[in-house]
Amino acid sequence: MNFHIHSTWSDGTYTPEVIVKEAIKRKVDKIAITDHYLTKKTASLPPKYLKMYVADLLTLRKKYSKDIDIYIGLEIDFSPRTELDSLPNFEDIDFLLFEYVQDELWDGYPLWRLLELRKRIDRPILLAHNDLSRNFGSGDLNALLRVLEADNIGIELNTNLNYTKLGLPYYRTFDEFFKNMASRDIPVSVGSDMHDSLELIADTGDALSFIQEMHLENNFKLFLKEVEF
Ligand SMILES: [Zn+2]
Repeated sequence: MNFHIHSTWSDGTYTPEVIVKEAIKRKVDKIAITDHYLTKKTASLPPKYLKMYVADLLTLRKKYSKDIDIYIGLEIDFSPRTELDSLPNFEDIDFLLFEYVQDELWDGYPLWRLLELRKRIDRPILLAHNDLSRNFGSGDLNALLRVLEADNIGIELNTNLNYTKLGLPYYRTFDEFFKNMASRDIPVSVGSDMHDSLELIADTGDALSFIQEMHLENNFKLFLKEVEF
């Protein structure tokens, strides 16, 4: 499974259909296309194409339903590069990834601003490739877990090399957080942030192992249930 993939709808190299076919070839069960939406950072989906994006992915979902489950996601750059006030409520989107939350290196807005936004967007929301130990490590971890659970904000385990330090993916540098997450209703997903390398379509193995190591199976099931169609 892979719930973080970019296509030609934003800054990815391949069309959704090429990605879907490749995923089937590599025996991936579930994928999400999660293109960038309305950010100045990179090529991204403008609001006027949102309906076409959803229609395109729904067509593929139907066409390939025997072989793979296709989810419709978007990635939001949670920073001044995005006009937050103009975000819709995304009723047709299965889930939203928010990148750079509380990430000062990328001018990310703090988590409390996401809690504000959460009041009017009721789709599943996850923090994408967040370096949690750097961005939240100095605070009260239990308070953070309580907030994530109360506002139903999930965590993505991202295997992309861009999100590693000292050779480890960010999630592997913060065991104390994930060990305490298992007992809470906080959704967890896995993704590789694929843009141009088809190899990365089936590259979430380490994140799936981590789910087992940290006993996060129920958190992962919770995510799957939330995005069910
Ligand atoms: Zn991404």
